[in-house]
Amino acid sequence: MYQTRLVKVGPYTLGTGHPVRVQSMCNTDTRDAAATAAQINALENAGCEINRVAVPDMQAALALGEIKKRISSPLVADIHFDYKLALEAIRQGVDKVRINPGNIGSVENTKEVVRACADKNVAIRIGVNAGSVKYLKSVEGRMELSDQKWAEVMVNEALEQANILEQLNFKNVVVSLKSDNFKRTVLANELFASRSDIPLHIGLTEAGSFLSGTVKSAVALGTLLQKGIGSTIRVSLTEDPRMQVRAAYEILKAVGLREFGPNIISCPTCGRTQVDVTGTVHALEEKIYSDKELLRLSTGLKIAVMGCIVNGPGEARDADFGIAGGKGEGLYFEHGKTMFKLPQEKWLDFLIEKIREFGRK
Ligand code: SF4
Repeated sequence: MYQTRLVKVGPYTLGTGHPVRVQSMCNTDTRDAAATAAQINALENAGCEINRVAVPDMQAALALGEIKKRISSPLVADIHFDYKLALEAIRQGVDKVRINPGNIGSVENTKEVVRACADKNVAIRIGVNAGSVKYLKSVEGRMELSDQKWAEVMVNEALEQANILEQLNFKNVVVSLKSDNFKRTVLANELFASRSDIPLHIGLTEAGSFLSGTVKSAVALGTLLQKGIGSTIRVSLTEDPRMQVRAAYEILKAVGLREFGPNIISCPTCGRTQVDVTGTVHALEEKIYSDKELLRLSTGLKIAVMGCIVNGPGEARDADFGIAGGKGEGLYFEHGKTMFKLPQEKWLDFLIEKIREFGRK
């Protein structure tokens, strides 16, 4: 099993023996502090633990303090090339900066950023994305390179960057190695984990739309997490960032690393269905995943929404509670025992009430 050093990001300790934390990134204009903080608050309600924002200019860097005041989760500033933006972000109180020390000019610049991070206990993430690796940019016919070669080049670049910080005796470092390619991402992260004890933030880049991106990410991240690789994860999707958080937790739940939200059992519906199962499940999920308290209460609960009473209660007998549809109404059951009938328009509120009754206190 791979062992990592421990790195602090705000209140969280990342690394071996600690929970894998879920991250996302805002798609608001960071200069608009109110809108960015509002999106982070929505992400926090959805369970996001660490939030990253792009810092493309000084105005964005100067907005970070205001954003920080309005949120409760650790904030990460994503900076390319300009060390002055990093210094301002640190002054504004961010918890981590994503910046590559090899890309910010002179050694003096790097030293200044590292000193500021060390003073304020701010972590640094080095991010190596396959598409922007220096060496690969200059390679003719790079598409013909083997996945193993891609992985080696990415890892070498990450180690080179990490070494700059190591030489300055700065240890509060996380690395990410991302590609939109499953094999390269897995190989690169495995190779890095075998050569360094720096914790890894794992994910695919440009994973795609909700369905295809989630599936690709689940295969890649699931493979790595099962081997004990990955201290934080992000599922990059062309979607509302809250859905990225949902997807990340579903992956962590599937590999048995985190508990999060309910296990909703619902049938695929068929010719027997005479109620709106799909609409009910969507509405129930929307309510739960936008409410921190409901999320907490429902964690670990098994809730069933089944299309008919012929198979419904039987197939969902190990649910804590649930509803099986009839014609415009449903039969409510608890632990396999049928209780009473309920008209469909009352299902949603009733199920929420039951979450509060049965949920984690
Ligand atoms: S539970 Fe009933 S409605 Fe749902 S798929 Fe099975 S038979 Fe069809």
